[in-house]
Amino acid sequence: MDNYPVGVNYNEAKGPGRGWWGPPRGTHTSGQSGETAVEATIKKLAAKIIDAKVEHLYIVDDDGNIIASATGEWEGVDVPTNAVNKLAGNNMLHSHPGVSTSFSQIDVELACKHNIKEMYLVGSRAGKQYLYRFAPGPGIRERVALPTELRKISSDVFDEMSNSFSKGYIDAEEMTYEYRHQTWIRANQFYAKKGLAFNYSREEL
Ligand SMILES: [Zn+2]
Repeated sequence: MDNYPVGVNYNEAKGPGRGWWGPPRGTHTSGQSGETAVEATIKKLAAKIIDAKVEHLYIVDDDGNIIASATGEWEGVDVPTNAVNKLAGNNMLHSHPGVSTSFSQIDVELACKHNIKEMYLVGSRAGKQYLYRFAPGPGIRERVALPTELRKISSDVFDEMSNSFSKGYIDAEEMTYEYRHQTWIRANQFYAKKGLAFNYSREEL
């Protein structure tokens, strides 16, 4: 689930400031206090698969039980045919080995199409571990395909990052890691204005 166009990345330390793109709307608490059973299971599984060389996938119910799992390849993992009907109303975790890029468009469309309660993604970068979360709200679930608007948003983000790159604020590696993340932050703001809510966030583990 990783066929989104590879873009570029933004250096938080060197760039002109987070306000340019704005903060993610999703504000999930992290740490032990207030952690749900789902979050506890997801974090345990995330620690297990974060350094794996192939993608892993788990479906977790609301009590934190693993109800399906799959192992894929470096480039992707499929939801097993007999587990597709377990997606609705439950939570899903998968990994992006090697680079901690955010969700692909395929990932998000899967979450919307199959009514996943919350989709989690884990990846690491330069010794840091990241957990991404996407929870489709009412309205956006029915949209499923986001292509035209999303293409415009991602190309706007790409153009702005390229501009920052050419001015030396960010390097190519940062662009690669950060491009999708910034696109989802922007998309979140865009769809919220249309009444199509979703929660999106990234936290360091
Ligand atoms: Zn993915």
